[in-house]
Amino acid sequence: MIGFDLTSEQKALQQRARQFSKEVILPVAAKHDRDGTFPIDVMKKAHQEGFLTPLVPKEYGGGGLGILDTCILSEELAAGCMGIYVSIFVSTLALYPIIRFGTRDQKERFLKPFCSKYTLASYCLSEVTVGSDPASMKTAAVLDGDHYVLNGTKMWITNGGYADFYLVFATTDPQRKHKGIISLIVPSNLEGLSHGEPIDKMGQRASNTTAVTFENVRVPKENLLAGEGEGFKKAMAALDITRPMIGIGAVGIARTAMELATQFSKKRIQFGVPIAQHQSVQFMLADMAKDIEAARLLIWKAAWLADQGIRNSKEAAMAKAFAADTAMRVTTDAVQIYGGMGYTKWHPVEKLMRDAKVIQIYEGTAQIMRLIIARQLLQEMTEVTFG
Ligand SMILES: Cc1cc2nc3c(=O)[nH]c(=O)nc-3n(C[C@H](O)[C@H](O)[C@H](O)COP(=O)(O)OP(=O)(O)OC[C@H]3O[C@@H](n4cnc5c(N)ncnc54)[C@H](O)[C@@H]3O)c2cc1C
Repeated sequence: MIGFDLTSEQKALQQRARQFSKEVILPVAAKHDRDGTFPIDVMKKAHQEGFLTPLVPKEYGGGGLGILDTCILSEELAAGCMGIYVSIFVSTLALYPIIRFGTRDQKERFLKPFCSKYTLASYCLSEVTVGSDPASMKTAAVLDGDHYVLNGTKMWITNGGYADFYLVFATTDPQRKHKGIISLIVPSNLEGLSHGEPIDKMGQRASNTTAVTFENVRVPKENLLAGEGEGFKKAMAALDITRPMIGIGAVGIARTAMELATQFSKKRIQFGVPIAQHQSVQFMLADMAKDIEAARLLIWKAAWLADQGIRNSKEAAMAKAFAADTAMRVTTDAVQIYGGMGYTKWHPVEKLMRDAKVIQIYEGTAQIMRLIIARQLLQEMTEVTFG
């Protein structure tokens, strides 16, 4: 059976998130974008609403929601501001591997306090020289008695300057590539840990992005997530879940861009009629509507598969790639519909275009998503005969 109706709980969640987006996020979105400042007040309110911990099971104080529920919630937050949404979302990226692979003790020590008081977490995979190919990472962890000694620098870390703990991927043996990688839960107050200044970005400027450096940081062995050699698999499993959540952020941006462009096109008069009456403008609006709908459905399917416990690497990659490309195209066309006005800071569509771009880059680039899709397609495809 296929059904597209939301349950009454999902509708209520959507409504609550929409209201939060309108009343709490939207009023400050332009200011944080302009100043490149981190929206601490919004983040604290988001924590009170449980938006930082939707996937954490109820027994640890979280929302106990599924991936699809979380996507429904996330679209609304991102429709207000993607930079603020990503600041909210990224804790889930760090928490999800603990929820899924953590020991009872790790869940008690990290999930419970996270839910009970305002806390942030970061996911530390990328490095300056290592992005699409994380198996070549340089950050090293050496076992010394009952501690791992961590050395290296992670780059592009969202919430890097504000996290209370970091989920860090490091190699115990570079020769073993992905098999040598472990993941460690690293509290931010450990000696030898520091972060850089916020990186001055093109878009999503409300989000805080920094380098994080580990100099002989001694991490207790009990903070090792899953076993040795398991880190890479866990990192990738987390991305299968969180890619739909980033993809749905792209849908939120695109939806806002379409709404603004539609509204503008009904008011702007050229050649004696609203530009919405010119067919080429209508076609741009129609393409926006159809691609947004298709992106949302791809994401809902990838999320639904994850909720059923079915592997969704290909579907998550399809959904993320399609949604990111859609957001880029839709926001570019929204600027086009606004004409010269769209190219100024007087209207929000230029911000949406800047915010959309990085979705084609982080959580796996547009090209890496296609590699994942193609790899699985080539494995699955059996011989086809015609006639
Ligand atoms: C704002 C922002 C926030 C981020 N937040 C985080 C975070 O919280 N945690 C984290 O760990 N990382 C984070 N990242 C890092 C992000 O995930 C990486 O930037 C991304 O994975 C790409 O890596 P790279 O920048 O090193 O580019 P590269 O991997 O060097 O890629 C450069 C170009 O080459 C292409 N390319 C590379 N390999 C191939 C290939 N095999 N085939 C075809 N094309 C290829 C890429 O698609 C891209 O176009 C963030 C990045 C940004 C910009």
